[in-house]
Amino acid sequence: MDLRYSDVDEAFRARLREWLSSELPKLPVQPARDDWSARRGWDTDWQRRLFDAGYAGINWPKEFGGQGATPSQHLVFLEETTRARAPYVGVNFVGLLHAGPTIIAEGTDAQKTDHLANILRGDEVWCQGFSEPQAGSDLAAVRTKAVLDGDHYIVTGQKIWCSYGQIGDYGELLVRTDPDAPKHKGITWLMLPMDLPGIEIRPLKTVLGSSEFAELFLDEVRVPVSCRIGAENDGWRVTNVTLAFERGTAFVSEMVDALRLIDDLSPYVTDPAYRRELGHLAAEMDGIWALTKRNVTQAARTGVMGPGSMMIKYAYSELRQRLGELSMKVLERDVLAIDAVGEFVEERLRTLALTIAAGTSQIQKNIIGERVLGLPKEPRP
Ligand SMILES: Cc1cc2nc3c(=O)[nH]c(=O)nc-3n(C[C@H](O)[C@H](O)[C@H](O)COP(=O)(O)OP(=O)(O)OC[C@H]3O[C@@H](n4cnc5c(N)ncnc54)[C@H](O)[C@@H]3O)c2cc1C
Repeated sequence: MDLRYSDVDEAFRARLREWLSSELPKLPVQPARDDWSARRGWDTDWQRRLFDAGYAGINWPKEFGGQGATPSQHLVFLEETTRARAPYVGVNFVGLLHAGPTIIAEGTDAQKTDHLANILRGDEVWCQGFSEPQAGSDLAAVRTKAVLDGDHYIVTGQKIWCSYGQIGDYGELLVRTDPDAPKHKGITWLMLPMDLPGIEIRPLKTVLGSSEFAELFLDEVRVPVSCRIGAENDGWRVTNVTLAFERGTAFVSEMVDALRLIDDLSPYVTDPAYRRELGHLAAEMDGIWALTKRNVTQAARTGVMGPGSMMIKYAYSELRQRLGELSMKVLERDVLAIDAVGEFVEERLRTLALTIAAGTSQIQKNIIGERVLGLPKEPRP
């Protein structure tokens, strides 16, 4: 294990830092939170700038238009973009972090040609239609049904918590194609063109007052068979490919951001007990970041993430909750006038979701218990 960056990594860091310092001042003002078409334009404009400068898809393989950066350069990229307060993936989240990687791993040549470059350029925005009202933690319980009719699937059902559903061009869609098979064996993974007839999108308002999520109602939507990723009824295996990308890398940038928040909060923490608590959190965060680097160097050496990767999402999201709670205790009435308060309050509300998104903490603990510690499996119904 080597937690230090190489000279090549540091040269990459210097180049990127210079580009960020010249590019970021050129960005237009960020649009209002609920102005979705403007938000899409702003986020995809940033993606296009990354693409033009040769930084899009930093960790995607070169043959699929990415930069083929080493895992440690990927970490440097995240460290530097966060340090410079550059935009993160925004509405390109699903496409860049798990739909694109799933297509790379499981898609046909035609699917790769049709989608990967568009995602990297910011020309194609994706959303995820996995969860259903009765299928969240128990995702394999999805009921949205797809019936084969010639060269189309006729899809009917309901999805919920579909992030960026109202502006997505395509959705990752899980459907039940064999209702008689055991539940994990009758699922298929489809790319859903979001403009097909029969799709109704109903935005859901969050506690922050904006509509990041939507419900999808699908009424006999005709999805071409050419939109299937992987074989029919093999969708659970493909789903696990998607989830491994979603849980494995999607939170790394958030971690660097948490280190920045700890620094930002520090000047307001005067009470010795709170300072001790903040110190503990900073030390734990450092530990999680070191574990991330260890996993990344292990992946670079062996090609697979170490078992630590399964702990990171759980450890990070729980720690972020504690950081949010501490910031609310620290920022009492007498500091309500400071500009940073808005950011901390918003952060607190936003991060409440982190222990739920991409698998709740309870589910992550089950995974750690069963797959890392080798404990007996929890009884399945
Ligand atoms: C910010 C955010 C973004 C999201 N984006 C999307 C998206 O784009 N697309 C999408 O499809 N979904 C999305 N989701 C949905 C998310 O995947 C689900 O909310 C999550 O999987 C939990 O499912 P649920 O809400 O149905 O809760 P439930 O599964 O009903 O769980 C309720 C409670 O029971 C606990 N529980 C359930 N089963 C067990 C068990 N076996 N052992 C112990 N405890 C258990 C859970 O931990 C939880 O506390 C998003 C969620 C959030 C918060």
